[in-house]
Amino acid sequence: MPAPLTLHAEVVVVGSGPGGATVARELARNGRRVLLLERGIDHRPASYYGTYLGALIYADRRSLLFTQEGLNIIRPLMVGGATSMYCGCAAPPPPWLADRYGINLSEEVSETVEELEIAPLPPELRGEASTRIAQAAQARGYNFQPQLKFMRPAQGRSFAERCGARCMLGCRCGAKWNAAEWVDEAVAVGADLRTRARVDRVLIEDGRAVGVAGRLAGQPFTAQAETVVLAAGGIGTPRILQASGLREAGLGMAMDTTVMVYGFVRERGIGNEPPMTWSWENADVGYMLSTLIDPWLLYPIITALKGPRYPLTWPRWNHILGVMIKLRDQVSGGVFPDGRISKPLTADDRERLHLAEAVCREILVEAGARPDTIFMTPLRGTHPSATVRLGAMLDSNLQTAVRGLYVCDASAFPEALGRPTVLTIIGLGKRLARHLQQGTGR
Ligand SMILES: Cc1cc2nc3c(=O)[nH]c(=O)nc-3n(C[C@H](O)[C@H](O)[C@H](O)COP(=O)(O)OP(=O)(O)OC[C@H]3O[C@@H](n4cnc5c(N)ncnc54)[C@H](O)[C@@H]3O)c2cc1C
Repeated sequence: MPAPLTLHAEVVVVGSGPGGATVARELARNGRRVLLLERGIDHRPASYYGTYLGALIYADRRSLLFTQEGLNIIRPLMVGGATSMYCGCAAPPPPWLADRYGINLSEEVSETVEELEIAPLPPELRGEASTRIAQAAQARGYNFQPQLKFMRPAQGRSFAERCGARCMLGCRCGAKWNAAEWVDEAVAVGADLRTRARVDRVLIEDGRAVGVAGRLAGQPFTAQAETVVLAAGGIGTPRILQASGLREAGLGMAMDTTVMVYGFVRERGIGNEPPMTWSWENADVGYMLSTLIDPWLLYPIITALKGPRYPLTWPRWNHILGVMIKLRDQVSGGVFPDGRISKPLTADDRERLHLAEAVCREILVEAGARPDTIFMTPLRGTHPSATVRLGAMLDSNLQTAVRGLYVCDASAFPEALGRPTVLTIIGLGKRLARHLQQGTGR
């Protein structure tokens, strides 16, 4: 048996989504020897990237990952993590993160907003029907606003003419920021990126992290480092911690559980318009609404989960108005060592979801949808998070009880965010990199 490959670095970062990419880039720019380990590969050069086929290839279980309760989780596994398939929406961290947990990310977030030119899409790209929904909502007293976006029209090839900011399965023109770009930048300044590197556990000696072990292209390997940052996402990170002996990881989870409420109109609907161009947050009740419907090919699959008659509406896909509900759900269920994932809604969650659905119906009717055509899709989740919570398993510098072992991704959220996550994760990544850079993280 050949000896397992051993790699060496100052800092090992596991996972290349927004959390891992940010930490790796910041530290590499400051001259630290960074090893970035990603279990997926870089699908961006492939012809299928950004297509339906691509979504099947790079999402966990071909996009058919379900919780015990039947909630569908979309979990892209590739360089860039879930930003390879996200809608490009940006939201600042919720105020309670600073008020309740003392995590003030305003400096890191301002820096990111400026660097990535985060702004709403220009009015002509917000979509006619989407704008009609927003106006209907405003007329009913719900203050929909243009959604901030990680979109840089100037950088996209033929942005307005060809893509129109409509992509949902991966941006092919380069206008939508993707964490993979920061992976490229980290590599350009010396970070060592290894793809097909699946980390199984953290190596711990005398209460401190000394590296990680796993499989690289199917072969066993270890990587030694004095600092380990886990950024494998809300499902990946607790699994690694459980295998490393931190048993309470994964007990409880948030998801920002999502549903769409659809209604049909005679005119053109929002199907071919950019996703989520308008939104509104009801912070008191704990939900966010945005203009969105499922992509054409996914629509019959998703609606089939509701019942056999719903996919029959597929031919009228072009006449749908849709509002997405993101529920700021309570922490429940979890990611368990036997592989199960559970995310039940609590009674309080159900009550608030019911209130949000009623508001969506009101908006859709105001926007011209026939009341008898309105229905809500089954539950799904795109923000698995809060599985290794700040304030419980992590201190304010994101360090676990194991010295030198940090977590920097959506699993660190202390509660459900109830809004787009990526800007907050980038903020956490920059803050952690500064902490490690000051030498206090050693
Ligand atoms: C369809 C969709 C639309 C979305 N839209 C938006 C949006 O518009 N705005 C927004 O802010 N958020 C959006 N989100 C959510 C957002 O993309 C995620 O919350 C965010 O990317 C999470 O970042 P992360 O760093 O925690 O983990 P991830 O992005 O999940 O990255 C984790 C990485 O770790 C890798 N990994 C996992 N396990 C291992 C292991 N054992 N070893 C090595 N590597 C591993 C994975 O392959 C992955 O690349 C969306 C998500 C989806 C799925």
